[in-house]
Amino acid sequence: MLACRRHLRLSALSAYTDTLTRRSAGGYFLSHGPLAPHIYSSGARALPAPRYVSSSSHCINSSKGSRAAPMSAGVVEITVPGTGKKISVPTGLFINNKFVPSVDSQEKIDCVNPATEEHLASVVAGSAKDIDVAVAAAREAFNTTWGKNVSGFQRSKLMNKLADLIERDAEELAALETLNNGKPFKIARDFDIGDSVGCLRYYAGWADKIVGQSIEIEPKTKFAYTKHEPIGVCGQIIPWNYPIQMWAWKVAPALAVGCTIVMKPSEFTPLTALKLSELIVEAGFPPGVVNTVPSLGSVGGAAISSHKDIDKVAFTGSTITGRRIMKAAAESNLKKVSLELGGKSPHLIFESADLDQAANWAALGILYNTGQDCTAGSRVYVQESIYDKFIETLVTKAKQLVVGDGFDEKVGGGPVVSKVQYDKVWSYIEAGKEQGAKLVLGGQKRSSKGYYVDPTIFTDITPEMKIVTDEIFGPVLSVGKFKTEEDAIKVANDTSYGLAAGFHSTDANQCMRVSDALEAGTIWVNQYGLLYNNVAFGGKKQSGIGRELGSDALHEYISVKAVQWNIGEKLDWPL
Ligand code: NAP
Ligand code: MG
Repeated sequence: MLACRRHLRLSALSAYTDTLTRRSAGGYFLSHGPLAPHIYSSGARALPAPRYVSSSSHCINSSKGSRAAPMSAGVVEITVPGTGKKISVPTGLFINNKFVPSVDSQEKIDCVNPATEEHLASVVAGSAKDIDVAVAAAREAFNTTWGKNVSGFQRSKLMNKLADLIERDAEELAALETLNNGKPFKIARDFDIGDSVGCLRYYAGWADKIVGQSIEIEPKTKFAYTKHEPIGVCGQIIPWNYPIQMWAWKVAPALAVGCTIVMKPSEFTPLTALKLSELIVEAGFPPGVVNTVPSLGSVGGAAISSHKDIDKVAFTGSTITGRRIMKAAAESNLKKVSLELGGKSPHLIFESADLDQAANWAALGILYNTGQDCTAGSRVYVQESIYDKFIETLVTKAKQLVVGDGFDEKVGGGPVVSKVQYDKVWSYIEAGKEQGAKLVLGGQKRSSKGYYVDPTIFTDITPEMKIVTDEIFGPVLSVGKFKTEEDAIKVANDTSYGLAAGFHSTDANQCMRVSDALEAGTIWVNQYGLLYNNVAFGGKKQSGIGRELGSDALHEYISVKAVQWNIGEKLDWPL
């Protein structure tokens, strides 16, 4: 998944410094109609602080499974390197606007800083029973204070408030994201969080515009109208590559239409979802509207997918887990499923392209977020007449990226997220070497601490190589060549994935032909990797089902009800 970046300048790859223009919250809507009293009875500042049930305890150093009782819901203080600032992070499950211990789990999730390999914190690992409790809270809220009980104006107001609070706390949230995920602090703050704030405001704008149709059937006798109702309780399972942004992409459209949420962050990056949960309370959302249950995928994720009282599951992650979720949904209650899965996206460079620009975009396409991006342009194909020149330019550009600890201002790329991911990426680099691809950049492990993989480029590839067929999810690029436009389209579409594709050409007719022929949900022409909150995003083929962002995402959370009204027809009986 990649960041919705704007105004990106790429004179060098280290130029990720372009700060997003933050929009002000815009006008708040006045509320109309009956209000859920606890939402509006107080001004914004009079809202209750989140409650931490059970006494505060520092979870660092508690060992897995060593407690007789379920792990308590405490608060851990994490120190930001350099500034020494302390960030307090709740370590319990967030249900009904309170941080609570697990009903029965003694397990914990250990969070690690991938730049240093140091332990950061431990949080409660929720169980299937905790998912039950969270679903019950979400159902209760759906039936009483949210769902069809609250107007779009009110939802919009609360969502805008939440966006303001995230913007207020952007530095702190970004520091936590950098510590837990490894991405550069400035990118977390300006891109991930900047666009998450924008996402909440975009969908806040939609909240009072969720409308159906009125349909004339027979003049004077029959009339129908459709209502776009919230689908209900939504399970949302998010990955570790954009922890805050994926949270926002899932939460914002669901809240806009009136759904309630049980959120399961990834075991690798649960900290910012917990910190954001505090802001849910401060913004004034009623208890149970958003619940957060850190849990292992095979436990909490599986419980969500197979839960009989969840109406929809939204997932971002691997294709293999997506399949499991769909199967569990089918076998439980046929809940609606949206899946945003992986990719092996092609990026074509035609001979008319501006080579310097194309190389910038190609470098961005594979190196942004250390290649841990579902749309990563991991297969670049270059027209043979410009191949040598392009490779030379691309290698120069890739070398300009500074990879290191995300708190270093110069850094444009961090480590990969975890030891598991590090081992996976390195196994692909080894496979590339063994299968005979030519390494033109990278391929050497660092001896220092941290899960670093420096930019790696292979050429002389063949279609069956693992580095060409598999999603690596690291900064590892395969570059091939093509002769004709027809060859380029064929090789680009030769994959079971269909999330994104990009190409560079200054021939307008070619741009039309190629964008038409490429099989993917997003096509980038003379650019790569940019997404916008108001443009639909999602996959074809095995890259997924459904759409996020834009007005299309609203439909993932809506159930259309048709009301058929007889205003004059008399029924003769018997037939
Ligand atoms: P993953 O298993 O698909 O994880 C994504 C989310 O699904 C996490 O919250 C995970 O929880 C949860 N999950 C895991 N097993 C589940 C199950 N049986 N039922 C329901 N939910 C479950 O991905 P991963 O293992 O972390 O990464 C493996 C590969 O997936 C990566 O190398 C990359 O190729 C791909 N990936 C793609 C994306 C994307 O944006 N499309 C994002 C991440 C990874 P836990 O993390 O707590 O286990
Ligand atoms: Mg897992």
